[in-house]
Amino acid sequence: MSTPVRVLIADDSIVSRRLLEAALSKWGYQVHQVSDGVAAWNELQKEDAPTLAILDWVMPGLTGPEVCRLVRQLPQAKYTYLLLLTSKSLKEDLIEGMDSGADDYITKPFDQNELQVRLRAGLRIIRLQQELISAREALRDQASRDGLTGLLNRSNIFEELGRQLARMEREDTPVGVVMMDIDHFKSINDTYGHLVGDEVLREAARRLRATCRTYDAIGRYGGEEFLMVLPGCHNQFLVSQGERLRQAISNEPIHVGELEIHVSASFGATHAMPGSEAFPEGLIGIADAALYQAKREGRDCVRVAVGDMRRSDLTHLVGKH
Ligand code: GH3
Ligand code: MG
Ligand code: MG
Repeated sequence: MSTPVRVLIADDSIVSRRLLEAALSKWGYQVHQVSDGVAAWNELQKEDAPTLAILDWVMPGLTGPEVCRLVRQLPQAKYTYLLLLTSKSLKEDLIEGMDSGADDYITKPFDQNELQVRLRAGLRIIRLQQELISAREALRDQASRDGLTGLLNRSNIFEELGRQLARMEREDTPVGVVMMDIDHFKSINDTYGHLVGDEVLREAARRLRATCRTYDAIGRYGGEEFLMVLPGCHNQFLVSQGERLRQAISNEPIHVGELEIHVSASFGATHAMPGSEAFPEGLIGIADAALYQAKREGRDCVRVAVGDMRRSDLTHLVGKH
């Protein structure tokens, strides 16, 4: 069974609340009640607020329309469907009520069937709204990813590095940066064709994902270049993680159909310490320099740059050579 929809009832009349609660519970809604406008406003501001609310017009504290107006000013991602309860004598004020941001109204004393269908209409709007939000999130996620590998794209991994550096200062933990470049990838393309090359890139990405921790960020930096951002990564971990990544790529050949392709990659790594005023371009530059050293020194190895931004700080730490 799906989880019951939560509805907020705000009414200062206990009789009215009881009647509404009885009807709503019968229809499977989960009811939360408050007896004044301020309490309603407090509830509707909460992160997990009900998405449907029935608000009496005249209440102590804030009136129903006043609550509507406040809710509509919230920068909420999800939509709150607001139903005003109005007595017949207030019906002429309806325009004012709807103008305050209410979605619909019901006249007191309410007719059960009418209330039921109006709530259903509200649910339809809420569901549509939720679908829209999910679709927008899916689009945003798609736009932030590389189409071939599903990893973050270049601009997003770059932004992620910036975010992690800001977090590093707040939380006082280092951040590791690893740049990887597949060795002689051009010859894989030349030998087997670009489609096979694409499969190799996909499999390499899968292996990186499987080797990293869930909170590490992995992006495709360029063609066969990948950038990893490892939060909370001190130097010792960087060395061992670099080696794990290297082995993940080269220990087992990559199978594409009948083909068995031996692939290796070179790695350049560095880490930023809190207070070092490290910045994304600087760190990527250092990791890149370490990567080129790995290439020069025979490929299929990891070079870690320690210290600050000087290339001369590159040290030969890990690798098969
Ligand atoms: P090195 O070991 O020095 O890195 O040699 P390499 O051959 O890997 O480096 P190079 O930069 O010469 O070649 C990279 C190749 O990657 C060239 C380019 O055609 C190929 N490439 C880039 N993006 C893609 C892609 O999306 N799919 C495929 N199949 N190939 C790609
Ligand atoms: Mg390469
Ligand atoms: Mg390259």
